[in-house]
Amino acid sequence: MASNLVPITVAHGDGIGPEIMAASLHIMKAAGARIQEETIEIGEKVYLRGVNSGIEPSAWESLRRTQVFFKAPITTPQGGGFKSLNVTTRKTLGLYANVRPCVSYHPYIQTKHPGMDVVIVRENEEDLYAGIEHRQTEEVYQCLKLISRPGSEKIIRYAFEYARRNNRKKVTCFSKDNIMKFTDGLFHKVFDEIGAEYPEFEKEHWIVDIGAAKMADTPEAFDVIVMENLYGDILSDVAAQIAGSVGLAGSANIGEHCAMFEAIHGSAPRRAGQNMANPSGLLLGGVLMLVHIGQPDVAELVHNAWLRTIEDGVHTYDIFKEGTSKQKVGTKEFAEAVAARIGQKPQNLKAVSYSKAPKQNAAHTMKTGAGAKKVLVGVDAFFDWKQRNPEEFGKKLEQLNGDGLKLFAVSNRGTKVYPEGFTETFCTDHWRARFMGNGAVSHAQIVALLDRAGKANLDFIKIENLYTFDGQKGFVAEGE
Ligand code: NAD
Repeated sequence: MASNLVPITVAHGDGIGPEIMAASLHIMKAAGARIQEETIEIGEKVYLRGVNSGIEPSAWESLRRTQVFFKAPITTPQGGGFKSLNVTTRKTLGLYANVRPCVSYHPYIQTKHPGMDVVIVRENEEDLYAGIEHRQTEEVYQCLKLISRPGSEKIIRYAFEYARRNNRKKVTCFSKDNIMKFTDGLFHKVFDEIGAEYPEFEKEHWIVDIGAAKMADTPEAFDVIVMENLYGDILSDVAAQIAGSVGLAGSANIGEHCAMFEAIHGSAPRRAGQNMANPSGLLLGGVLMLVHIGQPDVAELVHNAWLRTIEDGVHTYDIFKEGTSKQKVGTKEFAEAVAARIGQKPQNLKAVSYSKAPKQNAAHTMKTGAGAKKVLVGVDAFFDWKQRNPEEFGKKLEQLNGDGLKLFAVSNRGTKVYPEGFTETFCTDHWRARFMGNGAVSHAQIVALLDRAGKANLDFIKIENLYTFDGQKGFVAEGE
């Protein structure tokens, strides 16, 4: 019968990890989960053996074979030099979508938002998390924000497909495209394009700041929310916390080939080994995994039995409250209570249903690669210059004009300071000089410009080429 079993890679983790993993697997198996575990070691012990990624090379073999990772939380040792295992796993396995359902369980678990049922779909691979950071001058550091069309298409299509499979009604996009017109502007545009292919959903876009405020105040107004990596990182924790507790939320990290499922909380080392921890977050991560591996029937049994347990007031210490809770239990007893309710449904909380979920459509058909005509028209050259006098610097830069390139403007941290700057504008040692050609420009002209800058002892720290794409500017115009 072993051939019926789906192989999954399991890491028992650190701190409370082994206890909540044992509890979760016990419940899932009691519900008839058809899984075969391969255990790998990750986390603290591996880090302390000197593997700075926290995962042994042999563990990757298992992950690449099973393509499904059920992961308990790990402890990242204090001190520098240790790479985040989560970031490494997401990037290495291409897990581009992070899905976090944030649900309140009123009146059984205290919350200010009784009707909350929000799913955050967070882009997981790009944005400011590419880790491309530089110190460019004495005073200025830079982190590169990269938003790609394929990355945006993948995550936004995933959000709509998720909404379709899970009978959701509305998909909302959060972005900051009023300020970041190109990066967040692309994300918003792709949301509108792909959204048009899903006419059955209500669609809306919020600027992330006011959207976040609205979500924290009135989460019932949202359903599925899709966002870039940084906004999603921050707001998925906010959403989980206001739903009742970060200890109750599970999360899925989905890629084209592999997927990873976990709780959103950490390894809670102070609670380790005391049979105290709440296994619910990891268990609900396991429910997402069961749906993913094609066992929605088992996922439904587990989830409904869990809801019934919560409703029956059988609670671990972290959610126990005199009055509403009936029985304070440890990790093992909680697992037994859920296992004993397999086959039951909640009576007041809304029961879940996964069995009829339609299969996901091909999520990755991309429109990319239309072959826009790309023309080089100028260059932004960045300089380290210590004197804070824009007039003087502008005049020096004008001496670099020639060979078809001409200084157009100088700015400091994005504010134009030459020509016709304001003396009030504060300037750092990090300057951008925009040189434009009269029509198309060659790479050789730019190299020659930089050569003239070097000979004039001007310290150029980087350049960004200015292109048009089918005649549209691929750069934010000065003063916009
Ligand atoms: P934490 O989530 O481990 O704990 C925060 C608080 O919540 C603590 O009071 C803890 O006791 C409580 N708590 C968390 N999960 C609980 C549960 N299941 N049941 C009952 N109580 C629970 O966060 P932290 O203390 O900031 O981090 C501890 C360690 O976990 C650190 O080494 C951190 O790097 C790591 N961490 C790992 C992950 C991961 O592996 N995905 C995520 C976050 C933090």
